[in-house]
Amino acid sequence: MNKSIARRLSRRLFWRLLGIFVSLDITIAIIFGVSVAVYCERQAVSEIAFRRIDESSGVIIPEGAFKLPEPIRWIFPEATRDARRVITRHSYAVYSGEGQAVFFNIGAVIDVAQGAFIALAICELITLIDKSVKNSHLIHRSLDPIWELTQAAETLGRVTADAGRPPDMSALEGALERIDASKLDTRIELDATQTELQGLAAAINEMLDRIRAAYSAQIRFVSDASHELRTPIAVIQGYANLLDRWGKNDEKTLQESIDAIRAEAASMTSLVEQLLFLARGDNNTIELSPESFDLFELAEEAARDARLIDTAHEYAVKGAPAVVSADKQLIKQAVRALLDNATKYTDPGGLITLRTDGKDGRAELSVTDTGIGIPDELLPKIFDRFVRADESRARSSGGAGLGLAIAKWIVSRHGGHLEAVSRVGIGTRMTISLKSEEKI
Ligand code: ATP
Ligand code: MG
Repeated sequence: MNKSIARRLSRRLFWRLLGIFVSLDITIAIIFGVSVAVYCERQAVSEIAFRRIDESSGVIIPEGAFKLPEPIRWIFPEATRDARRVITRHSYAVYSGEGQAVFFNIGAVIDVAQGAFIALAICELITLIDKSVKNSHLIHRSLDPIWELTQAAETLGRVTADAGRPPDMSALEGALERIDASKLDTRIELDATQTELQGLAAAINEMLDRIRAAYSAQIRFVSDASHELRTPIAVIQGYANLLDRWGKNDEKTLQESIDAIRAEAASMTSLVEQLLFLARGDNNTIELSPESFDLFELAEEAARDARLIDTAHEYAVKGAPAVVSADKQLIKQAVRALLDNATKYTDPGGLITLRTDGKDGRAELSVTDTGIGIPDELLPKIFDRFVRADESRARSSGGAGLGLAIAKWIVSRHGGHLEAVSRVGIGTRMTISLKSEEKI
């Protein structure tokens, strides 16, 4: 469509230009002819060198000699107005009624005029070709946006045809409507969709995959959390029944029950706090309050606290200063989670070492123990929620498997990472790596 309009416009411009040139040429030719004629007529009037028209002078009036047409005769000088004329390429002859004739040689003038005309025509031809090519480019360029618009309109027209909606769009809508929380594994068939909509369908499918993964993680989290809470509640219920039946007057049973209920309530409180922390973390409602501090000092503080509550292990702090800008309370919470594990999974008498280091723009704090270690198959999963090595062992040590998930969340939230290296029977090293403040 664009091409045909452009071609038509170019053709029209070509003809117009050609018309202008041709009429210009004709005008010039007429002006030239009239000028030559007027010149000759004037000369004829003042010309003395008339030759007699008779046999002796050899001048005869040729057959083709013509008289000027009546209407324009008045333009010419009176003396030659009624004369006959013969005009050829080389001569202009006037034969008067008084038997006289005068001849002009106009061959040289016509030759010069002819040369000038050819030069003019060549110039015009070049201009015509040049202008046509340039015009055609200009027209194409000017029409391109219109053509693109038309294309877009046509595509839209096709899409919105058929009662205002393409069949595939309706198919897509139908598929989307069928998807709900219970059918998150539904997928839009890519083959069945129109090429233009395939990208959209693929993006929706990918989004559904992500939603399904997040949704399943949430479901798992809730069911794991309920499961974790059910055990202490069951224990508390058990002791309540025991007290109800036998313990009211039995001091020993009473004390045992109170201790157990207190311990279960404490573990429930800690579990609920951990769950709340992760839930707030998932909702991004935990605000960071960054401050500048030295990880080495934090390690010393944490070791001091640990020594107060745990005298069964030996604690050592080593390394160099490593200044970071981070939320000190949260980082301390993460270090505590690591220390808590080191204490829990290291036999009494074992050594727990906190080491800090600052190099290559990173600040690191590691907690190394000489404990039982983590089995290879569990190592990649220990940062997941509710993951623990041995259910019975964890239960006795009171862990729900959330400590490392929380520590990981805290470190990631600071743009850092948490790594674990472990050997069963030898020990474990957990390293928090953050961006060092000095290098920023
Ligand atoms: P919580 O921290 O919620 O009280 P937890 O300690 O069991 O419970 P995590 O701290 O997340 O949970 O640790 C997950 C699991 O990784 C632990 O159950 C344990 O099996 C293993 N683990 C973690 N740290 C160590 C360690 N230092 N030595 C041996 N095993 C470890
Ligand atoms: Mg733990």
